Amino acid sequence: MTLTPAFVSQLKTLKLGGVLDSLDVRLTQARDSQLGYLEFLQLLLQDEIERRRAQSLKLRLQRASFEQPKTLEDFDFSAVPGLNPAAVRDLASGLFIARHEHVLLYGPPGTGKTHLAQALGHHACRIGHSVLFLKAAQCLRTLHAARADNSWESALRRLLTPDLLILDDFGLKPLTLTQAEDFYEVVAERHLRGSIIVTANRAPADWLALFPDPVMANSALDRLAHTAHHLVIKGESYRKRLRPQLNTATTAP
Ligand code: ADP
Ligand code: MG
Repeated sequence: MTLTPAFVSQLKTLKLGGVLDSLDVRLTQARDSQLGYLEFLQLLLQDEIERRRAQSLKLRLQRASFEQPKTLEDFDFSAVPGLNPAAVRDLASGLFIARHEHVLLYGPPGTGKTHLAQALGHHACRIGHSVLFLKAAQCLRTLHAARADNSWESALRRLLTPDLLILDDFGLKPLTLTQAEDFYEVVAERHLRGSIIVTANRAPADWLALFPDPVMANSALDRLAHTAHHLVIKGESYRKRLRPQLNTATTAP
């Protein structure tokens, strides 16, 4: 069958232009396997559903602005024996997002915190959630800058809209009063309405000291800790393993 311009235009009018990608293959299959009309139509519609799913996942992953496309499939659990893979896989199921719970991920540098946070974000995107990944420092910088041009409300809204907000590397440095206020706002506004994943090199018990005002610190940390899953990572930096291996083999003179 030759495709007429009218047929192509009909598909495009119905925003079904993607059907053209698999039409040839499906027509051949229909002929070879003598598919019924309904079977053929069903296959084409299924292709379209798959295409739309893939397209919306791609969009969610782009909007999440991950630094790297990390997943649990490429996480080596044997490198972190203290971490329970079942607990991490449970989190990847996304139930904590549906329940508006938080995740605190902490441990020494290089032990996979950013990897795991992005992987949980990736899996959340796969099941249809909206995600935003940000370095905590960048998040606080953006809010600070937004105060100067009166766009603070909309900057805050951008942090409140996604189902899951990931703040990476919280508490590298003590917070200024404005940063502490902004962090409190993000936590208080998202609390019970959305989820937050925070990664940090320090344990939450040491976060209090990062705030200039203990009352605000307690209000923010109490909300975060209240419904948080704690993933404590111990061990050696994985970065050592990623270093290019020197070729120590000697060659005969
Ligand atoms: P952290 O955020 O704890 O400092 P990263 O998540 O940035 O550490 O990990 C550093 C590098 O090592 C990244 O490329 C990450 O993908 C990799 N990595 C860390 N831990 C693991 C692991 N258990 N399995 C696979 N890759 C890992
Ligand atoms: Mg990190």
